[in-house]
Amino acid sequence: MTSSSERPVRVRFAPSPTGPLHMGGVRTALYNYLFARKHGGTFLLRIEDTDQTRFVPGAEDYIQRSLAWCGLEPAESPWSGGPFAPYRQSERKALYRPVVDQLLENGKAYMAFDTEAELESLRDRAAAAGHPNFQYNQITRGSLKNSLSLPSAEVQSRLNNGEPYVVRLKLERNEEVRFFDRIRGWVTVNTQNMDDKVLFKSDGMPTYHLANVVDDHLMNISHVIRGEEWLPSAPLHVLLYRAFGWEDTMPEWAHLPLLLRPDGHGKLSKRDGDRLGFPVFPLFWSHPDTGETAQGYREMGFYPEGFVNMIAFLGWNPGGEQEIFSLDELADQFDLDRVSKSGARFDFEKARWFNQQHLRMRTNQQLAQDIQPWLAKEHLSIPDRLDDICGLVKERAHLSSDLLEEGRYFFEQDPVFDDAAVQSKWKPGVALHLDALRTAYATVEPHEFEPERLETVFKEILAQQGVGFGLLGPVLRIALTGTFTGPSAFAIAHLLGKTETLRRLQRALDELPA
Ligand code: GLU
Repeated sequence: MTSSSERPVRVRFAPSPTGPLHMGGVRTALYNYLFARKHGGTFLLRIEDTDQTRFVPGAEDYIQRSLAWCGLEPAESPWSGGPFAPYRQSERKALYRPVVDQLLENGKAYMAFDTEAELESLRDRAAAAGHPNFQYNQITRGSLKNSLSLPSAEVQSRLNNGEPYVVRLKLERNEEVRFFDRIRGWVTVNTQNMDDKVLFKSDGMPTYHLANVVDDHLMNISHVIRGEEWLPSAPLHVLLYRAFGWEDTMPEWAHLPLLLRPDGHGKLSKRDGDRLGFPVFPLFWSHPDTGETAQGYREMGFYPEGFVNMIAFLGWNPGGEQEIFSLDELADQFDLDRVSKSGARFDFEKARWFNQQHLRMRTNQQLAQDIQPWLAKEHLSIPDRLDDICGLVKERAHLSSDLLEEGRYFFEQDPVFDDAAVQSKWKPGVALHLDALRTAYATVEPHEFEPERLETVFKEILAQQGVGFGLLGPVLRIALTGTFTGPSAFAIAHLLGKTETLRRLQRALDELPA
């Protein structure tokens, strides 16, 4: 199938391996993936690693593992190959120089010999004169050192001497760049407000802009779906398509809204996460050089389904009541035209809520699997009837790690008695009633140690002792679990079994005030 134009949908996620993938990057990948699936197209991944100075070892591997965890496998990538391989720009080097030469020949680009130090001092001088944004452009380039301003003999001799130079795009004066963005509508910029961007660096590598456009063209990309931070670069990219004469196959543009901090003030950063106690990365990350580490959603106990569902709603909604979606359902519903222009505010509580909904859809058997790594981490052994235990405590769990926290008393033999619970519920005299209950429970046959039976016996004891449920109920729960909140005490006793229940009641009688 195709989108509005009769062109096969081919979209790409094009991360630079400069560090761990941020939530915003995952969202970009997700929207590309969903868009491709919705339109029966292809989702591919290209690694943009032309800036060697920003390269971080391990980052590419992290990107791959993160997308795999989220279930967003690209059909073409450096790892799986594909018809347009290689998919790593550092391995495509040979492709870029010829297209740059073509621009130079057509007069659409020029060589510039100005050194970094010279440009720096020009910027300083301009700033001192009250022009903080010095631009290399139609007005200034005539007095700078480039192949447009210098006599051709001098250009030739500089080249012969092997002087380093960059290639800049030659922008026309006062040209209007107008393009349609699927999310933001028409965008118009005048070249007066742009500068002659460097396309090719003196180190023989293309800049991001050049490689990005050339590769999108060569890889037949139909739609560029990326973060809003790239919107200011889009006019330049449009001009590059013009300069190359590739306008007919220029992709459609869609710039996604920013992810905002919970208070809505500014872009969501790792610092906000550290400050407010939530991760901004899908997986745990450890910087190979600095050793700096960062928490991930996975390690916190999020499910990929919950994480992806939450991310999908950061900037998009399907327009109905339904909020819980599987990846397949998202692919079915996704629509670029329902992506909002305004920034998407991140809410960690909402993230937890999404995960809770997905946790609740899991079977008790699945939950019993999910909890095992958490048990292993604390060297806790796996109790009998783990499925049922998970089924009992899942109501209160948002993350898979909560299954352990909520059910800790099932996994640790002697739960710690919570001071506050004991203070408020362990009234003078309750020990006597609890002892009576213990004696009565001791007469229940092990195979009849069922919630209903335990409740009946409990009520008989209440009647016999002349006390209310409100008095003895919390006491029973404290004795079994250490605290007074949680699922039904009868269900807990049933899962603990007769022997363990009696032991715990006795322990409470021994350790708490008589
Ligand atoms: N390499 C750019 C990045 O790291 C890609 C931007 C784009 O999608 O064009 O985000």
